[in-house]
Amino acid sequence: MTLNVGLIGAGMIGHDHARRLERVVAGARVSAVADVDLERARDLAAGMPGALTYASGHDIIASPQVDAVVVASSGPTHEPYVLAAIAAGKPVFCEKPLAPGPDACLRIVEAEVASGRHLVQVGFMRRYDPGYQAMRQALRDGLIGAPLLAHCAHRNPSVPGTYTSDMPLTDTAVHEMDAMRWLLADEVVAVSVLLPRRNGRAPSHLADPQVLLMETATGTLVDVEINLSCAYGYDIRCELVGETGTVTLDSPAGCTLRGNGTASQAIPADWRERFGPAYDAELQVWADTVAAGHDGCAAGAATSWDGYKAAAICEAALAALDSGQRTPVVTKDRPAFYADAASPRP
Ligand code: NAP
Repeated sequence: MTLNVGLIGAGMIGHDHARRLERVVAGARVSAVADVDLERARDLAAGMPGALTYASGHDIIASPQVDAVVVASSGPTHEPYVLAAIAAGKPVFCEKPLAPGPDACLRIVEAEVASGRHLVQVGFMRRYDPGYQAMRQALRDGLIGAPLLAHCAHRNPSVPGTYTSDMPLTDTAVHEMDAMRWLLADEVVAVSVLLPRRNGRAPSHLADPQVLLMETATGTLVDVEINLSCAYGYDIRCELVGETGTVTLDSPAGCTLRGNGTASQAIPADWRERFGPAYDAELQVWADTVAAGHDGCAAGAATSWDGYKAAAICEAALAALDSGQRTPVVTKDRPAFYADAASPRP
């Protein structure tokens, strides 16, 4: 049986996900596309045989031609669509952020818990990156002992002039916030943000680079260099330092070229190139999970609860950026409903 997916948001990542669902993900197709710009939805649907088009995502959710929903519209629009999908009992894959702030995320968590079904998966795709998965396995296998430190870097060659100084935390480092909770199986309890000397290449209003420090409940310290004007490529780094060893995220280049007295590796140009296989894998696993009737969140994927946690860390990081002070991350207790979210569900 083919899974009929309704896509909300025909922008940049909406185009990527539509192509993925039609051409890469087995057992799924795009049956409807919605965007506030109906022409944009029509242009995208033109390449999807039989796909309907709408100007509102609510029509997608209500459509009998839609079994499950992908929300790829702008962040502030996510909450009403995800709540409507839960109310309709339809599985929903929601791009990050789940919603713009922790209160909105909590409303989704509460609605999902009340529904009694795991219907929501959040698009934190690094959980499907083979390099991060290998690091996590090494840690779980005890190969480096207990984790003490993590050093991360998130470098972009440049960002558009529309990027504001909160976005390095809420749009960029939000990936490290989720990836580190998942990798370390630990909670972030406090954050600090430091501002080094500004890169003269950055847009003039943008505080870039920034350094985010995250402290976990067990005492692991995670530093994240967020560097959005590095010029040379899209470079994602992560090293875990344990009591007896370290484990480092490898370059995805696959080979090292030696010649003319140097050794070199290609660096991805952007996030699409770097994480393409991870985006493919997360949607394949989601579609398989939904098609198998196992609700709408694959084992080990980011749940609504994880979306809420990421939003709470973002909120604390913004306060830390503003005040220059170490800021606690304050969250509710995890509902028992999400207790098994990291292990396979039947
Ligand atoms: P984008 O290019 O601006 O696309 C968003 C689209 O949604 C636009 O066509 C927008 O129309 C439309 N839209 C706005 N409000 C809507 C509504 N109420 N109903 C339906 N459509 C609506 O943005 P993007 O870069 O694709 O990002 C979309 C989401 O994906 C964001 O939440 C972003 O953070 C996330 N994202 C995640 C990753 C990742 O690594 N996981 C990467 C990229 C993006 P208008 O332009 O007319 O407003």
